[in-house]
Amino acid sequence: MDNQHNLPEAFLENMKRLLADEYGAFLNSFSEGRKNALRVNRLKMTADEFEKDAPFPVRRVPWTENGFYIDYRDQPGQHPWYRAGVYYLQEPSAMVPAAVLPVSPGDRVLDLCAAPGGKATELGARLGGEGGLVANEISSSRARALERNIELFGIRNCVVSNETPARLLERFPEYFDGVLVDAPCSGEGMFRKDCEAARAWYPDKVRECSEVQKEIILQASDMLRPGGYMVYSTCTFEPDENELVIAHLLTCRDCMELVEIPCGGGRESFARAFSMEELAGKGYDTSGYAHADTRGAVRIWPHRSGGEGHFIALLRKRAGEKHSDRKRAADKRSADGSKNIDISRGDYQLIAQFASKYAPGINIDIDRCVVKDGRVYLMPEDCPDIKGLKFLRAGLYIGDLKKKRFEPSQELAMALEPSRKLAMAFGQEAKPLCEPGNTLCRAALNDDLPADDGVRVYMSSEDKRLQSFLRGETVRLETGGENGWRLVCADRWPVGWGKLINGVLKNHIPAGWRKGA
Ligand code: SAM
Repeated sequence: MDNQHNLPEAFLENMKRLLADEYGAFLNSFSEGRKNALRVNRLKMTADEFEKDAPFPVRRVPWTENGFYIDYRDQPGQHPWYRAGVYYLQEPSAMVPAAVLPVSPGDRVLDLCAAPGGKATELGARLGGEGGLVANEISSSRARALERNIELFGIRNCVVSNETPARLLERFPEYFDGVLVDAPCSGEGMFRKDCEAARAWYPDKVRECSEVQKEIILQASDMLRPGGYMVYSTCTFEPDENELVIAHLLTCRDCMELVEIPCGGGRESFARAFSMEELAGKGYDTSGYAHADTRGAVRIWPHRSGGEGHFIALLRKRAGEKHSDRKRAADKRSADGSKNIDISRGDYQLIAQFASKYAPGINIDIDRCVVKDGRVYLMPEDCPDIKGLKFLRAGLYIGDLKKKRFEPSQELAMALEPSRKLAMAFGQEAKPLCEPGNTLCRAALNDDLPADDGVRVYMSSEDKRLQSFLRGETVRLETGGENGWRLVCADRWPVGWGKLINGVLKNHIPAGWRKGA
């Protein structure tokens, strides 16, 4: 072990061989502080709005549209906007893989190794509610964390599955427009921020990971539709887990080609991946892969970029059109098949009535409502066939049917759009409503009385009653508003349901969602 940083000797030897002249700078980077960042949820706020209104100092991460450096001493994980799913705390290099995968609304996207959801949440947000995301995780315990993050982000059109890549491939050959493989790896890029990762490392781990990665990447590419794009990424430095895995794919699947990731536009500090020739010169076994061109992929080195270590390759399957193009063409032909209805008309009426008041932005089609043990799910419009697969959720759990009543779910609250009307000062009908960014809003929201427009209650993120509500407590409102459901918002963003009864807001945030839970 290296005395200063407790890094495994064999790892240091590998890095010396790989980095040559840059090895000293690389080692020095272990003494530098790590950079913390967050990524803004596009479904809830634009990056420009966030930059203007952020509740603590932020600075843009240069290589991605919606990433911001932050100071952890500002406790961004404690802020109500975090609880409202406005942002995800993420290491800045880890933002790159999802950022470089071309995704547009209407696409079918797969995140094959998705937990806890750092990339899946960005991919889902980029779909903007159209098309569908399959966020898969092989470990069932990790899949639960993934599910929670998808819910927190308010992503409606997602299936969270818990399957092996092989089982998914049986069901989805050449199905997806975009695939992300953020592969399990030896984690060397995380050594700087996570001493445990360094302790868990052993020389053979690299070889073991490489074997798994070579298998996964072929399965992933077989799920990609001709014309579709795939990103392969790791957080490790070893060529055996990076360039040589890409070379393996390019050698085994001649339909796949590497697409160069441009290193301009804020990505100047990224390094080009090694070529087979360079690796052979450094003593790596490139036999069988000599003709594979891997230079278009990129490496993020901590001593060059400040972020943790990453490898990212963008690939494309030759020819073909994207699903979203075909779907648009099919929509034009307005094909209309017979509809499968899973819910009684009466129950649907209850939901539709509730939705017309509280969730006007969500299209609740009767043929997309599925009822299971009284729980109502709204399936994605273009839901893949998941019968027989292990999955945690499909679409959005919108609430429960209870004795001729409909009770909305926390997941529905999180998926509802932020209010354009930031706040309505209580008791002053049609008082000019604040728009985001207007400092007057802050003043209105800091007022002692929370605003109540009969559907939503807006509380300032600085209001102590909001903290109480997030902990699951009942809150006295005294707004004089009519009794009934209220969608409680932290500033503009929904955080859960309350029921107003004679000036008292009863808390309906489920136990597992409460602050401190
Ligand atoms: N993409 C995630 C994110 O951004 O939050 C991180 C994914 S992590 C690097 C790799 C994931 O692959 C782990 O969650 C791990 O459980 C999963 N994994 C491990 N072995 C696997 C295998 N054989 N096939 C597919 N996934 C595997």
